[in-house]
Amino acid sequence: MRILYVLIAVSLISVMALWAGKLGMLRKKVAALLACVSLACGGSLLLLAVLPGNSFYGETITSVNLPQGKKLVALTFDDGPYPPYTQALLKVLESRQVPATFFVVGNNASRYPEVVRLVASKGHEIALHAGEHRDLLRLDRAELAGNIASGKKVLEGLTGKPVKYMRPPHGFRDWLVMEEVAKAGLRVVNWSVIPRDWTNPGVQVIAERVCKEASPGAIVLLHDGDAPAQIASREQTVKATGIIIDELRKDGYEFVTVGELLSRNAG
Ligand SMILES: [Zn+2]
Repeated sequence: MRILYVLIAVSLISVMALWAGKLGMLRKKVAALLACVSLACGGSLLLLAVLPGNSFYGETITSVNLPQGKKLVALTFDDGPYPPYTQALLKVLESRQVPATFFVVGNNASRYPEVVRLVASKGHEIALHAGEHRDLLRLDRAELAGNIASGKKVLEGLTGKPVKYMRPPHGFRDWLVMEEVAKAGLRVVNWSVIPRDWTNPGVQVIAERVCKEASPGAIVLLHDGDAPAQIASREQTVKATGIIIDELRKDGYEFVTVGELLSRNAG
């Protein structure tokens, strides 16, 4: 089932109800109520598809419940690889001995395979963002399955390791997206902290937003790439990452990959 079909259906129901009210087939108040309820249902379902932190359409991981006192955080980076920023980020992470999870775009990986291999060789976790950075809610089943399969194949070919996690572009998902992701043997991982670094609001702003919102078990969404335009600088994110690590460490946080964070789940 697609959220798009539901939206078309509720729009039709609303229009038909209003027409029925106008033609006297329904009382006007009943027609208006029916139209409002239909639109509210459609709007709610759309919100659940685009908001990152719910599992309405299927399990969506946004943070992990840790044992009392454990202060672990997972830094995640979307949209790469994206030279030279991905490599610059790797240096920041390496200098601080921090592992991270990279949600990689298959097309970008094909363009810069050596960068993906470099990320993996540094001990970071490689996960799938998409084969091609598209809104998966707009794809039909075949396109969706092809998108996921192509991205997974590229990443697994480059790293020699199975990919376990996927973050759909923008975090958008509905019933069919969840079904195809599960068929590919992947789990959906969104985020609990989003500093909106892609808008380049300033190094300090990015760092402050993350440090303010971070909590034990949090998954932080940052970007080493810029999909699909591939023109923006990610310099601010690279610099902010160093500050985030230093500041959160002062607060007693340790950094782990998403896979490691999930393995510590206290249930
Ligand atoms: Zn993205």
